Amino acid sequence: MSDLSTNIEKLNGYLSRFSDTGILNRIGGQDVDGSLGRFDNATPVDESHICTVARSGAKDVDAAAKAAATAFPAWRDMPAAERKKIMIRIAEGIEARAEEIAFCECWDTGQAHRFMSKAAIRGAENFRYFADQVASARDGKNLRSPTLVNITTRMPIGPVGVITPWNTPFMLSTWKIAPALAAGCTVVHKPAELSPISARILMEIAEEAGLPPGVWNLVNGFGEEAGKALCEHPAIKALAFVGESRTGSMIQKQGADTLKRVHLELGGKNPVIVFDDADLDRALDAVIFMIYSINGERCTSSSRLLVHDTIREAFEARLIERVNNIKVGHPLDPETVIGPMIGEEHFAKVTSYFDIAKKDGATVAAGGTRVGDEGYFVRPTLFTNAHNQMRIAQEEIFGPVLTSIPFSTEEEALEIANDTAYGLTGYLWTNDLTRALRFTDRLEAGMIWVNSENVRHLPTPFGGVKASGIGRDGGDWSFEFYMEQKHVGLALGDHKIPRLGA
Ligand code: NAD
Repeated sequence: MSDLSTNIEKLNGYLSRFSDTGILNRIGGQDVDGSLGRFDNATPVDESHICTVARSGAKDVDAAAKAAATAFPAWRDMPAAERKKIMIRIAEGIEARAEEIAFCECWDTGQAHRFMSKAAIRGAENFRYFADQVASARDGKNLRSPTLVNITTRMPIGPVGVITPWNTPFMLSTWKIAPALAAGCTVVHKPAELSPISARILMEIAEEAGLPPGVWNLVNGFGEEAGKALCEHPAIKALAFVGESRTGSMIQKQGADTLKRVHLELGGKNPVIVFDDADLDRALDAVIFMIYSINGERCTSSSRLLVHDTIREAFEARLIERVNNIKVGHPLDPETVIGPMIGEEHFAKVTSYFDIAKKDGATVAAGGTRVGDEGYFVRPTLFTNAHNQMRIAQEEIFGPVLTSIPFSTEEEALEIANDTAYGLTGYLWTNDLTRALRFTDRLEAGMIWVNSENVRHLPTPFGGVKASGIGRDGGDWSFEFYMEQKHVGLALGDHKIPRLGA
Protein backbone atom coordinates (compact mmCIF):
# COMPACT_ATOMS: atom_id res chain seq x y z
CA MET A 1 0.00 0.00 0.00
CA SER A 2 1.29 3.50 -0.86
CA ASP A 3 1.79 6.30 1.66
CA LEU A 4 -1.00 8.30 3.25
CA SER A 5 -0.90 11.34 0.96
CA THR A 6 -1.01 9.19 -2.21
CA ASN A 7 -3.91 7.26 -0.73
CA ILE A 8 -5.85 10.42 0.11
CA GLU A 9 -5.35 11.64 -3.45
CA LYS A 10 -6.70 8.35 -4.80
CA LEU A 11 -9.62 8.46 -2.37
CA ASN A 12 -10.60 11.93 -3.55
CA GLY A 13 -10.62 10.61 -7.11
CA TYR A 14 -12.97 7.77 -6.12
CA LEU A 15 -15.29 10.05 -4.15
CA SER A 16 -15.54 12.91 -6.65
CA ARG A 17 -18.40 11.23 -8.54
CA PHE A 18 -20.60 11.39 -5.42
CA SER A 19 -20.08 15.12 -4.78
CA ASP A 20 -22.68 16.22 -7.39
CA THR A 21 -25.28 13.45 -7.47
CA GLY A 22 -24.88 12.07 -3.96
CA ILE A 23 -26.02 8.49 -3.41
CA LEU A 24 -29.32 7.66 -5.05
CA ASN A 25 -31.57 4.68 -4.66
CA ARG A 26 -31.59 2.09 -7.43
CA ILE A 27 -35.01 0.63 -8.10
CA GLY A 28 -35.84 -1.59 -11.07
CA GLY A 29 -32.56 -0.61 -12.73
CA GLN A 30 -33.22 3.16 -12.42
CA ASP A 31 -31.62 5.84 -10.27
CA VAL A 32 -34.30 7.35 -8.07
CA ASP A 33 -34.18 9.99 -5.35
CA GLY A 34 -35.71 9.39 -1.93
CA SER A 35 -39.27 10.61 -1.44
CA LEU A 36 -38.27 12.14 1.92
CA GLY A 37 -35.40 14.18 0.42
CA ARG A 38 -31.74 13.69 1.33
CA PHE A 39 -29.57 13.28 4.40
CA ASP A 40 -25.88 14.12 4.88
CA ASN A 41 -23.14 11.55 5.07
CA ALA A 42 -19.93 12.58 6.89
CA THR A 43 -16.65 10.79 7.58
CA PRO A 44 -15.71 9.94 11.17
CA VAL A 45 -12.07 10.76 10.33
CA ASP A 46 -12.50 14.56 10.47
CA GLU A 47 -16.31 14.91 10.50
CA SER A 48 -16.25 16.47 7.00
CA HIS A 49 -19.17 16.12 4.60
CA ILE A 50 -18.83 13.33 1.99
CA CYS A 51 -22.09 13.46 0.08
CA THR A 52 -25.86 13.56 0.38
CA VAL A 53 -27.87 10.34 0.40
CA ALA A 54 -31.44 9.59 -0.71
CA ARG A 55 -33.76 9.51 2.29
CA SER A 56 -36.45 6.93 1.68
CA GLY A 57 -39.75 6.01 3.25
CA ALA A 58 -42.68 3.69 2.66
CA LYS A 59 -43.31 4.97 -0.88
CA ASP A 60 -39.78 4.16 -2.05
CA VAL A 61 -39.77 0.79 -0.31
CA ASP A 62 -43.08 -0.02 -1.99
CA ALA A 63 -41.61 0.74 -5.43
CA ALA A 64 -38.51 -1.37 -4.65
CA ALA A 65 -40.52 -4.31 -3.28
CA LYS A 66 -42.80 -4.24 -6.36
CA ALA A 67 -39.74 -4.16 -8.65
CA ALA A 68 -38.31 -7.16 -6.76
CA ALA A 69 -41.64 -9.01 -7.02
CA THR A 70 -41.89 -8.32 -10.78
CA ALA A 71 -38.32 -9.52 -11.39
CA PHE A 72 -38.71 -12.63 -9.21
CA PRO A 73 -40.26 -15.24 -11.61
CA ALA A 74 -37.69 -14.70 -14.38
CA TRP A 75 -34.75 -14.74 -11.94
CA ARG A 76 -36.10 -17.84 -10.18
CA ASP A 77 -36.49 -19.64 -13.51
CA MET A 78 -33.22 -18.53 -15.11
CA PRO A 79 -31.09 -21.64 -15.81
CA ALA A 80 -28.61 -22.22 -13.00
CA ALA A 81 -25.62 -22.00 -15.35
CA GLU A 82 -26.62 -18.47 -16.41
CA ARG A 83 -27.22 -17.31 -12.87
CA LYS A 84 -23.87 -18.76 -11.87
CA LYS A 85 -22.13 -16.83 -14.68
CA ILE A 86 -23.60 -13.53 -13.51
CA MET A 87 -22.52 -14.21 -9.93
CA ILE A 88 -18.97 -15.04 -11.03
CA ARG A 89 -18.89 -11.79 -13.01
CA ILE A 90 -19.99 -9.92 -9.86
CA ALA A 91 -17.04 -11.49 -8.01
CA GLU A 92 -14.71 -10.41 -10.82
CA GLY A 93 -16.18 -6.90 -10.75
CA ILE A 94 -15.54 -6.67 -7.01
CA GLU A 95 -11.94 -7.80 -7.48
CA ALA A 96 -11.44 -5.23 -10.25
CA ARG A 97 -12.72 -2.41 -8.00
CA ALA A 98 -11.34 -3.76 -4.71
CA GLU A 99 -9.11 -0.74 -4.07
CA GLU A 100 -11.96 1.72 -4.66
CA ILE A 101 -14.26 -0.29 -2.38
CA ALA A 102 -11.66 -0.54 0.39
CA PHE A 103 -10.71 3.17 0.25
CA CYS A 104 -14.34 4.35 0.27
CA GLU A 105 -15.18 1.90 3.08
CA CYS A 106 -12.29 3.25 5.22
CA TRP A 107 -13.45 6.84 4.74
CA ASP A 108 -17.11 6.03 5.34
CA THR A 109 -16.67 3.77 8.41
CA GLY A 110 -13.30 4.77 9.90
CA GLN A 111 -11.99 1.20 9.64
CA ALA A 112 -8.29 0.73 8.94
CA HIS A 113 -7.28 -0.15 5.38
CA ARG A 114 -5.30 -3.23 6.44
CA PHE A 115 -8.63 -4.88 7.37
CA MET A 116 -10.94 -3.32 4.76
CA SER A 117 -8.74 -4.40 1.84
CA LYS A 118 -9.27 -7.99 2.99
CA ALA A 119 -13.00 -7.41 3.52
CA ALA A 120 -13.40 -6.33 -0.12
CA ILE A 121 -11.73 -9.51 -1.34
CA ARG A 122 -13.82 -11.62 1.04
CA GLY A 123 -16.90 -10.03 -0.55
CA ALA A 124 -15.76 -11.44 -3.90
CA GLU A 125 -15.19 -14.85 -2.28
CA ASN A 126 -18.76 -14.84 -0.98
CA PHE A 127 -20.06 -14.44 -4.53
CA ARG A 128 -17.71 -17.10 -5.93
CA TYR A 129 -18.61 -19.58 -3.21
CA PHE A 130 -22.36 -19.16 -3.67
CA ALA A 131 -22.04 -19.10 -7.48
CA ASP A 132 -20.76 -22.67 -7.14
CA GLN A 133 -23.82 -23.63 -5.09
CA VAL A 134 -26.44 -22.31 -7.56
CA ALA A 135 -26.84 -25.60 -9.42
CA SER A 136 -27.45 -27.66 -6.28
CA ALA A 137 -29.50 -25.13 -4.27
CA ARG A 138 -32.82 -26.75 -5.21
CA ASP A 139 -31.68 -30.31 -4.58
CA GLY A 140 -33.66 -32.14 -1.96
CA LYS A 141 -33.86 -35.61 -0.51
CA ASN A 142 -35.46 -38.87 -1.49
CA LEU A 143 -37.13 -40.26 1.67
CA ARG A 144 -38.68 -43.54 0.64
CA SER A 145 -41.38 -45.17 2.77
CA PRO A 146 -43.15 -48.55 2.18
CA THR A 147 -45.93 -46.99 0.11
CA LEU A 148 -44.45 -43.75 -1.22
CA VAL A 149 -41.41 -42.26 -2.83
CA ASN A 150 -41.12 -39.00 -0.90
CA ILE A 151 -39.25 -36.30 -2.75
CA THR A 152 -38.27 -32.98 -1.22
CA THR A 153 -37.22 -29.98 -3.27
CA ARG A 154 -36.38 -26.41 -2.38
CA MET A 155 -37.78 -23.29 -4.03
CA PRO A 156 -36.66 -19.68 -3.47
CA ILE A 157 -38.95 -18.01 -0.94
CA GLY A 158 -39.48 -14.86 -3.07
CA PRO A 159 -38.32 -11.24 -2.75
CA VAL A 160 -36.33 -10.74 0.46
CA GLY A 161 -35.29 -7.70 2.50
CA VAL A 162 -31.67 -7.31 3.61
CA ILE A 163 -30.88 -4.78 6.36
CA THR A 164 -27.21 -4.28 7.21
CA PRO A 165 -25.19 -2.38 9.87
CA TRP A 166 -22.32 0.10 9.54
CA ASN A 167 -19.34 -1.78 10.96
CA THR A 168 -18.18 -3.79 7.92
CA PRO A 169 -20.98 -2.91 5.51
CA PHE A 170 -19.51 -4.21 2.25
CA MET A 171 -18.57 -7.66 3.50
CA LEU A 172 -21.83 -8.14 5.39
CA SER A 173 -23.94 -7.09 2.39
CA THR A 174 -22.23 -9.66 0.15
CA TRP A 175 -22.64 -12.28 2.86
CA LYS A 176 -26.42 -11.88 2.74
CA ILE A 177 -27.07 -10.96 -0.88
CA ALA A 178 -24.86 -13.62 -2.54
CA PRO A 179 -26.77 -16.62 -1.07
CA ALA A 180 -30.13 -14.89 -1.66
CA LEU A 181 -29.35 -14.48 -5.38
CA ALA A 182 -27.92 -18.01 -5.61
CA ALA A 183 -31.14 -19.36 -4.12
CA GLY A 184 -33.15 -17.52 -6.80
CA CYS A 185 -34.55 -14.76 -4.58
CA THR A 186 -34.73 -11.11 -5.55
CA VAL A 187 -33.55 -8.49 -3.07
CA VAL A 188 -34.33 -5.10 -1.56
CA HIS A 189 -31.28 -3.90 0.37
CA LYS A 190 -31.35 -1.17 3.01
CA PRO A 191 -27.78 -0.36 4.06
CA ALA A 192 -26.91 1.48 7.28
CA GLU A 193 -27.42 5.23 7.09
CA LEU A 194 -23.97 5.84 8.60
CA SER A 195 -22.02 4.06 5.84
CA PRO A 196 -23.97 3.89 2.56
CA ILE A 197 -21.18 4.21 -0.05
CA SER A 198 -20.01 0.65 -0.65
CA ALA A 199 -23.58 -0.67 -1.08
CA ARG A 200 -24.00 1.67 -4.03
CA ILE A 201 -20.72 0.51 -5.61
CA LEU A 202 -21.71 -3.14 -5.10
CA MET A 203 -25.08 -2.56 -6.76
CA GLU A 204 -23.37 -0.97 -9.80
CA ILE A 205 -20.99 -3.92 -10.09
CA ALA A 206 -23.93 -6.34 -10.02
CA GLU A 207 -25.77 -4.54 -12.81
CA GLU A 208 -22.59 -4.25 -14.91
CA ALA A 209 -22.22 -8.03 -14.45
CA GLY A 210 -25.56 -8.51 -16.19
CA LEU A 211 -27.96 -8.79 -13.26
CA PRO A 212 -31.41 -8.02 -14.69
CA PRO A 213 -33.12 -4.79 -13.47
CA GLY A 214 -35.21 -5.24 -10.35
CA VAL A 215 -33.43 -8.39 -9.15
CA TRP A 216 -31.48 -6.29 -6.65
CA ASN A 217 -32.85 -2.96 -5.46
CA LEU A 218 -31.14 -0.44 -3.21
CA VAL A 219 -33.12 1.78 -0.84
CA ASN A 220 -31.21 4.16 1.42
CA GLY A 221 -32.48 5.80 4.57
CA PHE A 222 -33.06 5.51 8.28
CA GLY A 223 -34.17 2.43 10.16
CA GLU A 224 -37.40 3.90 11.52
CA GLU A 225 -38.42 5.06 8.02
CA ALA A 226 -37.05 2.86 5.21
CA GLY A 227 -36.11 -0.13 7.40
CA LYS A 228 -39.47 -0.32 9.15
CA ALA A 229 -41.38 -0.05 5.84
CA LEU A 230 -39.30 -2.90 4.43
CA CYS A 231 -40.14 -5.11 7.42
CA GLU A 232 -43.85 -4.37 6.97
CA HIS A 233 -44.12 -4.76 3.20
CA PRO A 234 -46.35 -7.70 2.20
CA ALA A 235 -44.37 -8.54 -0.98
CA ILE A 236 -41.21 -9.17 1.07
CA LYS A 237 -41.21 -12.78 2.26
CA ALA A 238 -38.15 -12.88 4.52
CA LEU A 239 -35.82 -10.46 6.31
CA ALA A 240 -32.10 -10.99 6.76
CA PHE A 241 -30.96 -8.57 9.44
CA VAL A 242 -27.58 -7.80 10.98
CA GLY A 243 -27.47 -5.26 13.79
CA GLU A 244 -28.12 -4.66 17.46
CA SER A 245 -30.12 -7.09 19.58
CA ARG A 246 -32.78 -4.54 20.49
CA THR A 247 -33.24 -3.61 16.80
CA GLY A 248 -33.54 -7.33 16.05
CA SER A 249 -36.46 -7.58 18.41
CA MET A 250 -38.12 -4.60 16.64
CA ILE A 251 -37.55 -6.28 13.27
CA GLN A 252 -39.43 -9.33 14.51
CA LYS A 253 -42.34 -7.22 15.76
CA GLN A 254 -42.53 -5.16 12.57
CA GLY A 255 -42.51 -8.28 10.42
CA ALA A 256 -45.07 -10.16 12.52
CA ASP A 257 -48.25 -8.88 10.81
CA THR A 258 -47.05 -10.11 7.44
CA LEU A 259 -45.68 -13.36 8.94
CA LYS A 260 -42.12 -12.75 7.80
CA ARG A 261 -39.40 -15.31 8.22
CA VAL A 262 -36.51 -13.56 9.98
CA HIS A 263 -32.84 -14.26 10.31
CA LEU A 264 -31.22 -12.15 13.01
CA GLU A 265 -27.47 -11.73 13.47
CA LEU A 266 -27.11 -9.59 16.56
CA GLY A 267 -24.71 -8.43 19.24
CA GLY A 268 -22.17 -10.25 21.37
CA LYS A 269 -20.12 -10.06 24.57
CA ASN A 270 -17.86 -12.90 23.65
CA PRO A 271 -15.45 -14.55 26.08
CA VAL A 272 -11.90 -15.61 25.30
CA ILE A 273 -10.83 -18.08 27.99
CA VAL A 274 -7.10 -18.58 28.56
CA PHE A 275 -6.03 -21.54 30.71
CA ASP A 276 -2.54 -21.74 32.17
CA ASP A 277 -1.64 -24.79 30.04
CA ALA A 278 -2.20 -22.90 26.75
CA ASP A 279 0.39 -21.71 24.26
CA LEU A 280 0.43 -18.24 25.81
CA ASP A 281 2.29 -16.49 22.98
CA ARG A 282 -0.33 -17.54 20.45
CA ALA A 283 -3.14 -16.85 22.92
CA LEU A 284 -1.83 -13.32 23.46
CA ASP A 285 -1.73 -12.63 19.70
CA ALA A 286 -5.28 -13.93 19.32
CA VAL A 287 -6.65 -12.00 22.31
CA ILE A 288 -5.22 -8.76 20.90
CA PHE A 289 -6.35 -9.45 17.34
CA MET A 290 -9.91 -10.36 18.30
CA ILE A 291 -10.64 -7.11 20.17
CA TYR A 292 -8.39 -4.46 18.62
CA SER A 293 -8.81 -5.32 14.92
CA ILE A 294 -11.69 -3.74 12.96
CA ASN A 295 -11.85 -1.02 15.65
CA GLY A 296 -13.39 -3.57 18.02
CA GLU A 297 -16.60 -2.73 16.12
CA ARG A 298 -17.08 -6.37 15.42
CA CYS A 299 -19.88 -8.67 16.58
CA THR A 300 -17.47 -11.59 17.06
CA SER A 301 -14.88 -9.59 19.02
CA SER A 302 -13.64 -11.23 22.21
CA SER A 303 -14.48 -8.36 24.55
CA ARG A 304 -14.19 -10.39 27.79
CA LEU A 305 -10.84 -11.96 28.64
CA LEU A 306 -11.23 -14.73 31.22
CA VAL A 307 -7.72 -15.52 32.39
CA HIS A 308 -6.50 -18.28 34.73
CA ASP A 309 -5.47 -16.61 38.00
CA THR A 310 -2.13 -18.49 38.05
CA ILE A 311 -0.95 -16.62 34.92
CA ARG A 312 -3.07 -13.47 35.19
CA GLU A 313 -0.43 -11.03 36.34
CA ALA A 314 2.18 -11.96 33.74
CA PHE A 315 -0.37 -12.25 30.94
CA GLU A 316 -1.93 -8.86 31.69
CA ALA A 317 1.53 -7.23 31.90
CA ARG A 318 2.39 -8.47 28.40
CA LEU A 319 -1.04 -7.44 27.17
CA ILE A 320 -0.66 -3.87 28.50
CA GLU A 321 2.70 -3.47 26.78
CA ARG A 322 1.31 -4.63 23.44
CA VAL A 323 -1.92 -2.62 23.70
CA ASN A 324 0.04 0.58 24.34
CA ASN A 325 1.94 -0.04 21.07
CA ILE A 326 -1.14 -0.34 18.85
CA LYS A 327 -1.25 2.54 16.40
CA VAL A 328 -4.35 4.72 16.26
CA GLY A 329 -4.59 6.96 13.21
CA HIS A 330 -5.91 7.77 9.77
CA PRO A 331 -7.59 4.69 8.28
CA LEU A 332 -5.64 5.09 5.02
CA ASP A 333 -2.27 5.19 6.75
CA PRO A 334 -0.74 1.73 6.13
CA GLU A 335 0.54 1.65 9.73
CA THR A 336 -2.86 2.26 11.32
CA VAL A 337 -4.57 -0.52 13.27
CA ILE A 338 -7.40 1.49 14.87
CA GLY A 339 -9.25 4.29 13.08
CA PRO A 340 -12.02 6.53 14.43
CA MET A 341 -15.27 5.18 15.87
CA ILE A 342 -18.12 5.43 13.36
CA GLY A 343 -19.73 8.67 14.62
CA GLU A 344 -20.45 11.07 17.45
CA GLU A 345 -23.15 9.01 19.16
CA HIS A 346 -21.15 5.79 19.10
CA PHE A 347 -17.98 7.60 20.20
CA ALA A 348 -19.92 9.03 23.19
CA LYS A 349 -21.15 5.53 24.04
CA VAL A 350 -17.68 3.92 23.86
CA THR A 351 -15.96 6.68 25.86
CA SER A 352 -18.72 6.68 28.49
CA TYR A 353 -17.47 3.25 29.60
CA PHE A 354 -14.12 4.79 30.65
CA ASP A 355 -15.91 6.50 33.55
CA ILE A 356 -18.34 3.65 34.15
CA ALA A 357 -15.38 1.26 34.59
CA LYS A 358 -13.72 3.50 37.18
CA LYS A 359 -16.96 4.17 39.02
CA ASP A 360 -17.65 0.44 39.26
CA GLY A 361 -14.17 -0.18 40.72
CA ALA A 362 -12.20 -1.53 37.74
CA THR A 363 -8.71 -0.31 36.80
CA VAL A 364 -8.00 1.38 33.48
CA ALA A 365 -4.76 -0.49 32.76
CA ALA A 366 -4.30 0.89 29.22
CA GLY A 367 -6.01 3.57 27.14
CA GLY A 368 -9.20 5.04 28.52
CA THR A 369 -8.92 8.37 26.71
CA ARG A 370 -9.75 9.88 23.34
CA VAL A 371 -6.99 10.74 20.86
CA GLY A 372 -6.83 14.33 19.56
CA ASP A 373 -9.86 16.60 19.44
CA GLU A 374 -10.95 16.04 15.84
CA GLY A 375 -12.71 12.91 14.61
CA TYR A 376 -13.77 10.08 16.88
CA PHE A 377 -10.47 8.42 17.84
CA VAL A 378 -10.03 6.47 21.08
CA ARG A 379 -7.00 4.70 22.49
CA PRO A 380 -7.18 0.92 22.68
CA THR A 381 -8.33 0.23 26.20
CA LEU A 382 -7.90 -2.54 28.75
CA PHE A 383 -9.82 -2.78 32.01
CA THR A 384 -8.43 -5.02 34.76
CA ASN A 385 -9.54 -5.81 38.34
CA ALA A 386 -12.98 -6.38 36.93
CA HIS A 387 -15.69 -8.91 37.72
CA ASN A 388 -18.47 -10.23 35.55
CA GLN A 389 -21.30 -8.27 37.16
CA MET A 390 -19.83 -4.93 36.12
CA ARG A 391 -21.43 -3.11 33.20
CA ILE A 392 -18.14 -3.29 31.28
CA ALA A 393 -18.45 -7.08 31.43
CA GLN A 394 -22.14 -7.33 30.55
CA GLU A 395 -22.83 -4.63 27.93
CA GLU A 396 -21.69 -4.67 24.29
CA ILE A 397 -19.34 -1.66 24.05
CA PHE A 398 -18.54 -2.33 20.36
CA GLY A 399 -15.17 -0.57 20.43
CA PRO A 400 -11.48 -1.42 21.08
CA VAL A 401 -12.14 -2.07 24.74
CA LEU A 402 -11.27 -5.28 26.60
CA THR A 403 -12.31 -6.30 30.11
CA SER A 404 -10.06 -8.80 31.90
CA ILE A 405 -11.60 -11.08 34.56
CA PRO A 406 -9.67 -13.75 36.50
CA PHE A 407 -10.92 -17.29 37.23
CA SER A 408 -9.47 -20.10 39.31
CA THR A 409 -11.23 -23.29 38.14
CA GLU A 410 -12.69 -24.66 34.92
CA GLU A 411 -16.16 -24.64 36.47
CA GLU A 412 -15.83 -20.98 37.44
CA ALA A 413 -14.60 -20.05 33.95
CA LEU A 414 -17.62 -21.73 32.41
CA GLU A 415 -20.00 -20.03 34.81
CA ILE A 416 -18.56 -16.57 34.03
CA ALA A 417 -18.46 -17.26 30.28
CA ASN A 418 -22.15 -18.22 30.22
CA ASP A 419 -23.28 -15.46 32.55
CA THR A 420 -24.28 -13.00 29.82
CA ALA A 421 -27.38 -12.24 27.77
CA TYR A 422 -25.43 -12.96 24.57
CA GLY A 423 -24.13 -16.15 22.96
CA LEU A 424 -22.42 -15.44 19.65
CA THR A 425 -18.84 -16.75 19.85
CA GLY A 426 -16.38 -18.17 22.37
CA TYR A 427 -12.60 -18.65 22.13
CA LEU A 428 -10.85 -21.26 24.23
CA TRP A 429 -7.11 -21.57 24.84
CA THR A 430 -5.93 -24.85 26.38
CA ASN A 431 -3.76 -27.78 25.39
CA ASP A 432 -5.92 -30.22 27.33
CA LEU A 433 -8.12 -31.89 24.72
CA THR A 434 -10.61 -33.42 27.12
CA ARG A 435 -11.07 -30.10 28.88
CA ALA A 436 -11.60 -28.41 25.50
CA LEU A 437 -14.31 -30.93 24.58
CA ARG A 438 -15.99 -30.70 27.99
CA PHE A 439 -15.93 -26.94 27.89
CA THR A 440 -17.17 -26.44 24.32
CA ASP A 441 -20.03 -28.83 25.06
CA ARG A 442 -21.33 -26.55 27.82
CA LEU A 443 -20.37 -23.12 26.50
CA GLU A 444 -23.47 -21.20 25.36
CA ALA A 445 -22.36 -19.88 21.98
CA GLY A 446 -23.22 -20.46 18.33
CA MET A 447 -19.56 -20.60 17.30
CA ILE A 448 -16.46 -21.64 19.26
CA TRP A 449 -12.82 -21.65 18.24
CA VAL A 450 -10.24 -23.67 20.20
CA ASN A 451 -6.65 -22.39 20.08
CA SER A 452 -7.53 -20.06 17.24
CA GLU A 453 -8.83 -16.63 16.46
CA ASN A 454 -12.07 -16.38 14.46
CA VAL A 455 -11.39 -18.01 11.09
CA ARG A 456 -14.43 -18.05 8.86
CA HIS A 457 -14.95 -21.07 6.60
CA LEU A 458 -17.90 -20.34 4.31
CA PRO A 459 -19.60 -23.77 4.36
CA THR A 460 -19.86 -23.71 8.19
CA PRO A 461 -22.84 -22.27 10.11
CA PHE A 462 -22.50 -18.69 11.33
CA GLY A 463 -24.84 -17.31 13.97
CA GLY A 464 -25.55 -16.98 17.66
CA VAL A 465 -27.76 -18.16 20.51
CA LYS A 466 -29.60 -16.20 23.24
CA ALA A 467 -29.65 -12.44 22.50
CA SER A 468 -27.07 -12.91 19.72
CA GLY A 469 -29.57 -14.05 17.16
CA ILE A 470 -31.85 -16.50 15.46
CA GLY A 471 -30.83 -18.63 12.48
CA ARG A 472 -27.61 -19.45 10.69
CA ASP A 473 -25.74 -18.31 7.58
CA GLY A 474 -23.17 -20.17 5.57
CA GLY A 475 -23.20 -23.04 3.11
CA ASP A 476 -26.48 -24.90 2.99
CA TRP A 477 -27.74 -23.11 6.11
CA SER A 478 -28.15 -19.96 4.01
CA PHE A 479 -30.41 -21.86 1.61
CA GLU A 480 -32.50 -23.18 4.49
CA PHE A 481 -33.34 -19.55 5.15
CA TYR A 482 -33.79 -18.18 1.61
CA MET A 483 -35.74 -21.21 0.33
CA GLU A 484 -38.95 -23.09 1.04
CA GLN A 485 -38.95 -26.86 1.43
CA LYS A 486 -41.49 -28.67 -0.70
CA HIS A 487 -42.53 -32.28 -0.18
CA VAL A 488 -44.02 -34.40 -2.97
CA GLY A 489 -45.26 -37.94 -2.19
CA LEU A 490 -45.53 -40.36 -5.15
CA ALA A 491 -47.51 -43.53 -4.53
CA LEU A 492 -45.55 -46.69 -5.26
CA GLY A 493 -48.62 -48.81 -5.92
CA ASP A 494 -52.20 -49.42 -4.90
CA HIS A 495 -51.87 -49.04 -1.14
CA LYS A 496 -55.10 -49.11 0.78
CA ILE A 497 -56.79 -45.68 0.96
CA PRO A 498 -59.36 -45.28 3.78
CA ARG A 499 -62.86 -45.39 2.20
CA LEU A 500 -65.29 -43.03 3.87
CA GLY A 501 -69.03 -42.84 3.24
CA ALA A 502 -69.17 -46.04 1.21
P1 NAD B 1 -28.49 -1.14 14.34
O1 NAD B 1 -29.35 -2.22 14.88
O2 NAD B 1 -28.56 0.20 14.96
O3 NAD B 1 -28.75 -0.90 12.79
C1 NAD B 1 -28.62 -1.95 11.85
C2 NAD B 1 -29.51 -1.65 10.67
O4 NAD B 1 -30.87 -1.69 11.08
C3 NAD B 1 -29.30 -0.26 10.03
O5 NAD B 1 -29.40 -0.38 8.63
C4 NAD B 1 -30.47 0.54 10.60
O6 NAD B 1 -30.87 1.61 9.77
C5 NAD B 1 -31.55 -0.53 10.64
N1 NAD B 1 -32.66 -0.26 11.57
C6 NAD B 1 -32.64 0.43 12.73
N2 NAD B 1 -33.87 0.47 13.28
C7 NAD B 1 -34.69 -0.23 12.46
C8 NAD B 1 -36.07 -0.55 12.46
N3 NAD B 1 -36.89 -0.14 13.44
N4 NAD B 1 -36.55 -1.29 11.46
C9 NAD B 1 -35.76 -1.72 10.46
N5 NAD B 1 -34.45 -1.43 10.37
C10 NAD B 1 -33.91 -0.69 11.37
O7 NAD B 1 -27.01 -1.72 14.40
P2 NAD B 1 -25.65 -0.95 14.08
O8 NAD B 1 -25.40 -0.01 15.20
O9 NAD B 1 -25.71 -0.45 12.67
O10 NAD B 1 -24.59 -2.15 14.10
C11 NAD B 1 -23.92 -2.58 15.24
C12 NAD B 1 -24.57 -3.83 15.81
O11 NAD B 1 -24.56 -4.86 14.81
C13 NAD B 1 -23.80 -4.41 16.98
O12 NAD B 1 -24.71 -4.77 17.99
C14 NAD B 1 -23.14 -5.66 16.41
O13 NAD B 1 -22.85 -6.66 17.33
C15 NAD B 1 -24.15 -6.09 15.40
N6 NAD B 1 -23.53 -6.96 14.39
C16 NAD B 1 -23.83 -8.31 14.44
C17 NAD B 1 -23.21 -9.18 13.53
C18 NAD B 1 -23.48 -10.67 13.59
O14 NAD B 1 -23.14 -11.36 12.64
N7 NAD B 1 -24.07 -11.20 14.65
C19 NAD B 1 -22.34 -8.68 12.57
C20 NAD B 1 -22.06 -7.31 12.55
C21 NAD B 1 -22.69 -6.45 13.47
